Order: sequence, then structure tokens, then C-alpha cells
Amino acid sequence: MNLGRLGAMLLPALLAGASPHALAAKDAPACDRAQPECALSLMRVHPVKTLAFWKDALAHPLAERVVIESPELVDFLTLDTIAQAIPTRPRPASPSPGLVADVRSAIAEMPAEVQRLLERKLLGIRFVEDLGGTGFTDWVYDERGRPGGAFIVLDPSVLARRKANEWATWKERSPFRDDGADRLDATIETGARDDRMHAIQYILLHEFGHVLSVGEHFHPSWSIPPSQVGPTGAFPFFELSWKVSSEGRYVSRFDGQFPERSRVVYYFGPKLDGREMAATYGHLERTNFPTLYAATHPGDDFAESFANYVHTVRMGRPFEIRLLHEGRAVKVYGPCWSEERCEAKRAILEKMLQGP
Ligand SMILES: [Zn+2]
Repeated sequence: MNLGRLGAMLLPALLAGASPHALAAKDAPACDRAQPECALSLMRVHPVKTLAFWKDALAHPLAERVVIESPELVDFLTLDTIAQAIPTRPRPASPSPGLVADVRSAIAEMPAEVQRLLERKLLGIRFVEDLGGTGFTDWVYDERGRPGGAFIVLDPSVLARRKANEWATWKERSPFRDDGADRLDATIETGARDDRMHAIQYILLHEFGHVLSVGEHFHPSWSIPPSQVGPTGAFPFFELSWKVSSEGRYVSRFDGQFPERSRVVYYFGPKLDGREMAATYGHLERTNFPTLYAATHPGDDFAESFANYVHTVRMGRPFEIRLLHEGRAVKVYGPCWSEERCEAKRAILEKMLQGP
């Protein structure tokens, strides 16, 4: 189970600057769409990747951009699961009216400056069952191949399941094996706000971080493999924490002090032992990653930083990871935004939220 699945790497068409729109139809390859290579090539020319598909979405209020039906998105996500070898097959969704209302309320409650930025970049939110994660975000291009916005797809059955703290605890436990002695509890809401709507709100804030990175230079595009990114000096947020290794992989600048980082894997099967929790969070405090999930990938570093900053600083909500060993609290990890270690990231986020 993945929180924020990102679109498959669509090289080389997009890298070469080719317009997906111009390629549509006439260049759609005739191949076996059950094969990953074929699925990738069909995704490259898929209508949902073109701004034309989303028509005048940006002219509508945010609430109207939350739409249930989308056969095209089911098709696109199916190709993506084939391309990324994810063993689920997306299906059309019929979310309950209450769930759709929760998504709209979650957005409406966000700070005005966040909504203003979204108005320019969020093309739509759609619902698809079994998409292979809770949420999926991907960029969309105009007829000249320039990024023009992003869309989000949500899995209603996954969203319907948990309240805020229950969801956050489930997510933050997922990198660690359950050994019966070590335990992690996450708190992101209190009292009556600990409900499903506020779980959805935090999930959306993370996805909105990805949406707001469209056309910006916070980090290299996730459509480009690290080995092909080239000089990274143009990505100031990325530069604060990441580099490309000589083997062409993203590594953090803190890996020497944070040896657990390379084994931090969310959702797909834990690689860290329960007894490593306290050391992992202790080492995380020596970095400028606001959350453990931020340490997994440059794009998720930005999305998590955005979500955690807006949630705790702009919305004044809690964020606490409490670690217990045999029932006794051994460590409490909190927000980093008033600490020196996160100052530079905070400055970039605040500049972005000021708007152009
Ligand atoms: Zn993400």
C-alpha cells in the first residue's frame, strides 16, 4: 500500500520535449498493452496527460474539480500499474456522497494561500478503485510539452477506512517490523477533529505538495531517472538534502549520520526492526527531513515538507511520533519548523506560499 504513488517514468518522449498532445492518436503504438514497455508507450500519448483533456478546469472553483466519474483515468492508471508492475487492476469507483463531501470539506478548510496556489495548478481530483495506493498524482502538459498542471486520483475504499490518528499511526509504523515490544503512536489531530475528513486532509496536503511542484524547480521531475538529471544546482530545495550518487541513484547528504535511511520503506514490507525505531528517529533529528517519509525520495521530501509545514505551522495542528518500548515512552519526535535544522526548507516553503 502506497500513500502517494507518482506516475511512471515517461522517458524519453517527455525528456526530448516532444508534446504528448501532438503525439496522440496518430502515433499511438500498436502493441500488446499487457506488456510493460507497451503500457509505458501508450501512457506517453494518453489524452489525460494533455492539458486539452482537462479543458477549462482551472476556471472552476476547487470544489467543482472534485469529480467522481472518469473512465479515462481508469484506463491510464491500468497502464501505469502494468508499467510499474503493481499487481492491482484499477476499476471505476463509486465513492459515497459522504466521502466526496469529506474531500471537498478537507480542501475548503485549508489556508487561503494554499487554495490560491492550487487554483492555478490543480486540474482535477478523480476516484478510482484499486489504483495501487491511496493517492496518485501526475503532471499534465500543454501542446508545446510544457507542464501545465497536475491531477490527483484517490482510492475511495482506502480513504474510507481510517480516522486521522489511526491512519497516521498505520502509515508511520509501516517501515518497522512488529516485534511485540516496540511500538509507535502518531498524533496528527485531537478531540473531535480526529476523524476521517482530517485523515483525508493530511493525505491531500501531501498530494498537493506534488501538485504545487509542477513547473517549479524545487527538485528534478520524477519523470526523469536520477542518472539523467544532470547538474542539480538549479533545484534549491533538493540541494539542501540530496545528491545523485556515482551509481546514478538519489542519496541523502546525511547518509553518513543516518545509516537507517536506505532501509526506510513505507507500505511495501518493513526493512527495519522494531528495536531500531528510537535510533532511526534520533538520527532523523540530525537531518533536515521533517518526517521519516520525507527521507525516502526528493519529490516526497518536498511533498511531506509542504504537508507537515502547512498542517503544523499554518493550521496549528499537532504532529507527534511517540515511541514506546514495552509500554514505556522512550522518545517523542515533533515538528522541526522552529528548529534550525529545518530553517532553510521553511524559508523556501514560505516564499512559495507568498505567491508570485
Ligand atoms: Zn508522494
